[in-house]
Amino acid sequence: MILAAVYDTKPYDREHLLPAADGHAVQWRFLEFRLTQATAATARGAQAVCAFVNDQLDRPCLEALAAEGIRLVALRCTGFNNLDVAAAKDLHLAVTRVAVYSPHAVAEHAVALLLALNRRIHRAYNRVRELNFSLHGLVGCDLHGRTAGIFGTGKIGRIMAQILRGFGMRVLAYDPFPNSSWAAATGVEYTDASSLVGLSDVVSLHVPLTPETHHLIRRETLDLMKPGAILINVSRGALIDTAALIEALKRGTLGGVGLDVYEEEEGIFFEDLSGQVLQDDELARLLTFPNVLITAHQAFLTREALADIAHTTVANLDALAQGTPFVEGSVLA
Ligand code: NAD
Repeated sequence: MILAAVYDTKPYDREHLLPAADGHAVQWRFLEFRLTQATAATARGAQAVCAFVNDQLDRPCLEALAAEGIRLVALRCTGFNNLDVAAAKDLHLAVTRVAVYSPHAVAEHAVALLLALNRRIHRAYNRVRELNFSLHGLVGCDLHGRTAGIFGTGKIGRIMAQILRGFGMRVLAYDPFPNSSWAAATGVEYTDASSLVGLSDVVSLHVPLTPETHHLIRRETLDLMKPGAILINVSRGALIDTAALIEALKRGTLGGVGLDVYEEEEGIFFEDLSGQVLQDDELARLLTFPNVLITAHQAFLTREALADIAHTTVANLDALAQGTPFVEGSVLA
C-alpha cells in the first residue's frame, strides 16, 4: 500500500482522486495547505507526495521530503517550473508529472478568454444584470480573416491553432522545434518570434516557463504588437513582465488581455480572498482595466482533464508500489 500526501487539495481534486484509487493499493492523505520546506514534515509516514502548480518544490523542500523517506513526487500538473529537477536527481527522488491531460481543456479556455474579450462578454454580462441594455463600447471585430500568432506548438498550442484555423483566421506560429508536417496539414505558417508578434491581431502563449521563456513578453515585445491586438496567456504567469504589461495597457494600445495565470499568483489564485484586502498592487491595477479578463488558473478545470490527471497519478503510485516503470513520458527524475 502506498500512502500519498496530497498538497493544496481542493474539493474537485478529492472528487477525482478518490474514485481513481478504487481497487488500487493507494491511500490519500488530503492536505489543504501548500507544500514548502516549512510544511514538508507533514509528509511523514507517506511514501509519496502529490503536488500542484503553486507548491514550492525547491532544493530545501526536496531535502526535507527525502529526509522524511519520500520516494516519489507525483506532480498533478504538466508544468514543472516550481520543482528543482537537478536537486531531485541528486537526492534520488523520483519525480513524475502528468505530461498529457486533455490539452483541449486548456486550449478551449484560451479561446473562451479570446471570444469574451473580443465581444466584451464580461462587460455585457454585468451591464445586462443592471438592466443596462445599451451597446455603447461593446464593438468587437470578426476574428475570421484576422491573424493569430501562437507561441509554442506543443500539445495545447497545436489545438489552439486548429480551433482558430476553424474560425477562418490566418495562423502564424513560432516554436524552436517546428512541426512542419502538422503545419502543412493545418495551414499554419511558422515564422520568427518578432514577425509573429508584429503581424498578429491575437497573440497566444503556449510555452513552458523556463529561463529562456521568462518574460518572453516584455516592453520591447509589447511595443511590437499591433494596436488593438489581444494577448492571451494560459501557460505560466512569468512568461509576461507584468509591470511592462500594465504600462502598455495604460498607453491604451492593446485591444485586450486574457490571463489565466499571473506572475505572482502563488497564495492568491485558488483561494477565496473575497473578505480580505488585496495586497498585490499589480494584480489590483490589472483588475481595473476594462479590457483585461482574468481567471484564476482554471484552464485545466474540466471533468475530462481532472479524470486524466487522477488516473495518471494513480498509475504512477501503482508503479512505485510494484517497482514497475512509471507512465511513459511522465518521468522528470
Ligand atoms: P508541450 O511541451 O506539449 O509544448 C510546449 C511547446 O513550447 C513545445 O513545442 C516547445 O518546443 C515550445 N517552446 C519551448 N520554448 C519556446 C519558445 N521560447 N518559444 C516558442 N515555443 C517554445 O506543452 P503543452 O502541454 O502544450 O503545455 C504548454 C504549457 O501550458 C505548460 O508548460 C504549462 O505551463 C501550461 N499549462 C497551463 C495550464 C492551465 O491550467 N492554465 C494547464 C496545462 C498546461
